[in-house]
Amino acid sequence: MKTNFNRLYEYVFFVFVFLLIIFFIRSATYNFPGFSSSAGDELSSSLKTVTEDELSGDTTNTSSSEEERTSTPEIPMILIDPGHQAEPDYSRENAAPTLNSTVYKVSTGTRGVATGVWEFQLVLDVALKVETELKDLGYQVVLTRDRHDVHITNKERGQMAKEVGADILVSLHADGSSITSAQGVSVLSPAFNVSFIDGDRAAVSKTLSTLIVDELAKATGARNRGVHFRNNLSLLNWSEVPSALVEMGFMTNPEEDKKMQTDEYQEKIARGIASGIDEYFSSIADSEE
Ligand SMILES: [Zn+2]
Repeated sequence: MKTNFNRLYEYVFFVFVFLLIIFFIRSATYNFPGFSSSAGDELSSSLKTVTEDELSGDTTNTSSSEEERTSTPEIPMILIDPGHQAEPDYSRENAAPTLNSTVYKVSTGTRGVATGVWEFQLVLDVALKVETELKDLGYQVVLTRDRHDVHITNKERGQMAKEVGADILVSLHADGSSITSAQGVSVLSPAFNVSFIDGDRAAVSKTLSTLIVDELAKATGARNRGVHFRNNLSLLNWSEVPSALVEMGFMTNPEEDKKMQTDEYQEKIARGIASGIDEYFSSIADSEE
């Protein structure tokens, strides 16, 4: 009897230490819930399976429920990038981590044909509304910029996602075209089958981009131009998390340009984007259950 008790004691202690190690591995490697390819995550999830199986027969042990509580994913963090800035920088930077071709560092973007408002102004107005919507839904939000007089290149904005610990990156832009009748919303997503974009990241980004463009079109009533896959956008290439670049409407279309300057329409855009992001995190939570 005494021996059995000691063995049980040793066993519980061993499991406790084991769970402690798993907890620290998860904390150190946790980046974003959309990814299961990280070696640390695979290791910890396989370890977790083993320990839960071992514990499943023991109804008096409370370690199992404690372990579940400590591995509950933290509140998702979204990095919102209001595209462009007041002063452009047309010097060049690498378009992607393993690519020698270069692109402009950062520009002012397009400009409203009817209102004269710059894209960098419009997207910050909308970004602040998206931030409010997301915070109301319980998310953590970080902005790449909260004013116009900054100098942050597109590569730096992409890299910022990992640096701040964001789960996803959503960059906000408005479209321009020489065809003034062009209108509607679209989302640009990292391309598949290019050496410098991880295939898993492209797939998860596609899910995110599709949910955002559909919810955005629904909320605004604008034409849904769908998701387009791009390999030449440094922000998408340098980001290491699932990313989407939203084109919220055409500033070269006089009607859409004027509409995008109304508070009411900006609220619809913000609600649509936030709703797409919320659905994305719900879909991840569902697939993990
Ligand atoms: Zn833009």
